[in-house]
Amino acid sequence: QVPPQPSGGLFGRLMGRKPDAPVMRRTLDDDMLEQLEELLIAADMGVDTALRVTANMAEGRYGRKLSTAEIKALLAAEVTRIMETVAKPMPLYPTKPQVVLVVGVNGSGKTTTIGKLASQFRAAGKTVVIAAGDTFRAAAVEQLQVWGDRAGVPVLTAPEGSDPASLAFDAMTKAQADGADLLMIDTAGRLQNRADLMEELAKIVRVIRKKDPDAPHNTLLVLDATTGQNALRQVEEFQKLADVSGLVMTKLDGTAKGGVLVALADKFGLPIHAIGVGEQIDDLAPFDPEEFAAALTG
Ligand code: GDP
Repeated sequence: QVPPQPSGGLFGRLMGRKPDAPVMRRTLDDDMLEQLEELLIAADMGVDTALRVTANMAEGRYGRKLSTAEIKALLAAEVTRIMETVAKPMPLYPTKPQVVLVVGVNGSGKTTTIGKLASQFRAAGKTVVIAAGDTFRAAAVEQLQVWGDRAGVPVLTAPEGSDPASLAFDAMTKAQADGADLLMIDTAGRLQNRADLMEELAKIVRVIRKKDPDAPHNTLLVLDATTGQNALRQVEEFQKLADVSGLVMTKLDGTAKGGVLVALADKFGLPIHAIGVGEQIDDLAPFDPEEFAAALTG
């Protein structure tokens, strides 16, 4: 097993030496490429992406002797190149309110991310309204209220089990009346009831479009980076349920190897707007490709 990132680094085993040993070189041959592929797959990059990355690294360099530092630099450059195409902050539009629909499975970090985003928008001088659209989970609504208090943002709720679309409509009405800059709508994450969830999300979109045909302006999919390759399946599923416009990757502060972000970028090309790096309100950072590549390669 590869040690967890970012403390571990991918390369200890590859070069078969301790990091402080004298510089050693290895020939970039099939054997080494295969080992590299294994490391990248173990780091959650997925087979297709790992193969593409190693092929690009070998291009024009096959048979050369390279030091660990050179291999690391090549890998970091390749990862950076892929990730630069998706590192984009969430686009902001002048429309009031700009509607941000937030989707994702339960436990992915939706509530926390909404709280963090609301706090960032507030700090930037924007007015925000939150709609607690996961009306089936009383605990989720309570949690969102706690985050709303922390961020200093009103959270609109509805009785347990009531129609989320009706809440979204009311929230849209209030946000418009208040002249709020942003309306963030939390949604249910019961992927096991796919048909219900699809209908629920479609209905929310339908009703808010009665108020603004361009809404939602952003549909954020929140993904837990520690779920590895599962994140790829979640993107596929949610793309069928909603018009996903961008991703927030959470829990990148823990033992997540983070390689799944490369697989996601390579496969879907969806922008990564932000990353979650902890449980506190300020623990949301813009996605920085170079920093990410450096942490991944160790
Ligand atoms: P939801 O069910 O999708 O709304 O998920 P929550 O926002 O309730 O988050 C689920 C758990 O993940 C909570 O314990 C959060 O504190 C935790 N969490 C969310 N984002 C992060 C993150 O970026 N880093 C860490 N370490 N934990 C997070």
